[in-house]
Amino acid sequence: MNQALVDKRQVSAFGERELYNNVYLVAPGVWRLKDIFVNMYLIQDPDEDSWILVDTGLKSSASKIKKMISEVSDPDSVPKAIVLTHGHFDHVGSLAQLTNEWNTTVYAHKLEMPYLTGKASYPPPDPNAGGGLFSTISFTFPKGPIDIHDRVQELPDNGSVPGLSGWKWIHTPGHAPGHISLFRERDGVLIAGDAFATTRQESIFSVMSQKREICGPPKYFTPDWGSAARSVKALAALEPNVITTGHGHALYGNEARHGLHKLAREFWQLGMPGTGRYVNEPALFNEDGPTYIPKKKGGMFIRILAAGALLAAGIYLYKRRQKKLGTTLLTSSLQMLTGAVPAAATTLSSPLATIAPILGRL
Ligand SMILES: [Zn+2]
Ligand SMILES: [Zn+2]
Repeated sequence: MNQALVDKRQVSAFGERELYNNVYLVAPGVWRLKDIFVNMYLIQDPDEDSWILVDTGLKSSASKIKKMISEVSDPDSVPKAIVLTHGHFDHVGSLAQLTNEWNTTVYAHKLEMPYLTGKASYPPPDPNAGGGLFSTISFTFPKGPIDIHDRVQELPDNGSVPGLSGWKWIHTPGHAPGHISLFRERDGVLIAGDAFATTRQESIFSVMSQKREICGPPKYFTPDWGSAARSVKALAALEPNVITTGHGHALYGNEARHGLHKLAREFWQLGMPGTGRYVNEPALFNEDGPTYIPKKKGGMFIRILAAGALLAAGIYLYKRRQKKLGTTLLTSSLQMLTGAVPAAATTLSSPLATIAPILGRL
């Protein structure tokens, strides 16, 4: 750890303060909203008295984001810009709705553009990455793209964040090719997106309890582990005072720094899966999208496990009188068990809408 760097910093906060249900003040001018299992951030620019939004969560997040804005700022104010850490489905769910309502520009790294302009999909998630039920069912997660080509612009090359003074963006690829993190040098506030997580995002139990733990990026959706390891190392070298990510609570001070340095040092044991599609070779990318995707490994056993999980969830929901959703899941699981996987995938063609309520209940 670079103690001189740490000593130079203003200490801005020692813990998060919950303002109301699932909205937290993380540091001066930085608010975190959690929706089901993912975070988004509202950041104030004190010089301009304006705001930017970082990520837009799920489809269900739009109304919660607007409520947060009305609680912490002028009810009629609209963020000056939306900045994306990356374009995965759980970070862009409300993007189209909010940009249309607010007429706001979206900024993202140039390597994320194919997935935000309808040109290319991300490499498939890896259900073999292990770690819990989220990984197991990840083959149902959407891999894009969305198309907001008339709204999105590339982040400036000089590392500045449009609409926000005192912050810089840092390219932290691995989890996604154009993944970025945001850093406020003055007091060492780091918003790391999914470059790593502060809860074990693969495990549904950790996700529901939001158990605090510095972990690698979500395993099922990370196609380049070498880059992911280098990104964590670069973020640890910043010696942040406040660490907050796309999934989990904010962490503070020495404890957080030690956790991040340990992850950076032992990334190959702590941060990445032992097996999986992208462990031995990464997916490759250019500005048009993926140029190489490693072949799928095995998968029969994992699909049987996933079918069992869906079956259990279906029975649970059916018993809880959510008969329609329960029946959909039961049908899907039976189709999978009889080998009709494509049919199951079709049934789950709107997986977020289908899965989100279940995840909130298991
Ligand atoms: Zn992600
Ligand atoms: Zn995420």
